[in-house]
Amino acid sequence: MGLRAVAVCSEADRGGAWLEAADDSVCIGPGRASESYLDADALLLAAEVAGADAVHPGYGFLAENAAFAAKVEQAGLAFIGPTSDVIRLMGDKISAKAAMRAAGVPCVPGSDGALPADPARCAEIADEVGYPVIVKAAGGGGGRGMRVVRDGSDLAAAIATTREEAFRAFGNAELYLEKFLELPRHIEIQVLCDNHGNALWLGERDCSIQRRHQKLIEEAPAPGIPREAIAALGERCAAACREIGYRGVGTFEFLYENGTFAFIEMNTRIQVEHTVTEQVTGIDIVREQLRAALGERLSLTQRDVRTKGHAIECRINAEHGFEGRPSPGRLTQWHAPGGPGIRVDSHMKANADVPPHYDSLIAKIVASGCDRAECIARMKAALAEMRVAGVAVNTGLHRFVLDQPAFREGGVSIHFLERALQGE
Ligand code: ADP
Repeated sequence: MGLRAVAVCSEADRGGAWLEAADDSVCIGPGRASESYLDADALLLAAEVAGADAVHPGYGFLAENAAFAAKVEQAGLAFIGPTSDVIRLMGDKISAKAAMRAAGVPCVPGSDGALPADPARCAEIADEVGYPVIVKAAGGGGGRGMRVVRDGSDLAAAIATTREEAFRAFGNAELYLEKFLELPRHIEIQVLCDNHGNALWLGERDCSIQRRHQKLIEEAPAPGIPREAIAALGERCAAACREIGYRGVGTFEFLYENGTFAFIEMNTRIQVEHTVTEQVTGIDIVREQLRAALGERLSLTQRDVRTKGHAIECRINAEHGFEGRPSPGRLTQWHAPGGPGIRVDSHMKANADVPPHYDSLIAKIVASGCDRAECIARMKAALAEMRVAGVAVNTGLHRFVLDQPAFREGGVSIHFLERALQGE
C-alpha cells in the first residue's frame, strides 16, 4: 500500500524480528506490559515522535480498549478500528448483547441485563433461564470471569466469587447470566465495514478446539453446517454492523448447538485466526482494514466474496503442550515449515527471546488445500518439519488433535480437546 510502518517494542523485545520488517521502530518502556504495551501515554508519545498518522492496535493489549481508542482520536490520529463509542458498546458484554438482540441477531438466552444485587432476584432469573447457567463478567475477556452453576444452591456463592474476581481483573463488578450450553461448537462470522455504510461478511470460522476457553486450532469453512444457515447469519451480522455504525474488521462469536446459533460476544479488532479466512477467500483482510481506517471505500462487494477450498490454523505456543505450562526462554533453533499450501505468520527468529511477560503465542501455521483432508495432511507434514529448540512448543498437542478420529470427521464441540486429554 506504500505506507510506512513504525513498530513498537518493550525492552524485553528489543531483538524482535518484526522490528526488522518495519521501516522504523520505537522502544516504549520496560518489559512489564503495564509499563510499555499497556501504557497509552507511552504509545502516543511514540506515535508523535515517529510522525505517525494512524495507530494499529494489533490483537492484544489495548486493541479493544475504548479509552485508548478515544485518546488516539483526541490526539488527531486515526485509530485502525471502530470508533471508541462502538468499542465501548461492544466491549461491555451486557450492552453488546442488548444491541445485538435489538438488531435481530440470535443470542444465548439469559438475564436481560446486569444481575441485581438481591440474591433472591438472581435466583428467580436463573430459574427462569433454567440450569445449568453460566455467570459471566460484563467486562470479561480472554476466557476469564466465568463460572458454571449446575444447582441453585451454588448460585449465590458463584455470583459472589465471580463478582469479586471481575472487579479485581476488569475493574467492573457487573455480571450477567446465560444458559450454559453443554456441547456447543464455537462458530464466528468475520465482518468488514467501511465508513460509507458498506458492511460485508467474509464467511465463518470454526474455533471449537479450545483449552481453558482459549482457541488452539481454527478452520474455515466450518465442517457440516448448511451453507444457507451460515449465509442467513452472515447477512444478519452485516445488517447489525450497519445498524450500530461499525467500521473496520470485526468478529461476531456464536455458540452453535442443535442447529441453532447464539451470539456470545463481538471482537472489535482483527483476530489471531483471521488468516484462515484470508486463505479461503483470497482477501487481504488487514489491507481492507487499513483502507477502511483511511476513510476509503471497501474494494469489494458481497458478490466478490467467495470461499474456495479449506484452511486450518494451528497456534504454536511456547509452552509444554500437554500441560499448557508456559515455556519462555531463548530460541536456540528456529526453523519454520514451508511448501505448497503452508503459511507461517510469526514474529520469531533464531536466537530471539520469548519473554515471560506476554502471551505464549509465537507462530501461526496455516495449511490450505482443496479440502479438509488435504489441509490436515499438509498440517501434519508442516508440524513434523518445524524445528524449535530452547523453549518447549505445543506441536505434539496439535498432532494429537489432528490424529483424533472425531476431529478428522469434523464438527466436534468446544469440550472435545479437554475430554480427549482426559482419555474420554
Ligand atoms: P471471552 O471474552 O473471555 O472469550 P466469551 O463470552 O467469548 O468470553 O466466552 C469464551 C468461551 O467460554 C466460549 O468460547 C465458550 O467456550 C465458553 N462459553 C461462554 N459462554 C457460554 C455458554 N453460555 N455456554 C457454554 N459455554 C460458554
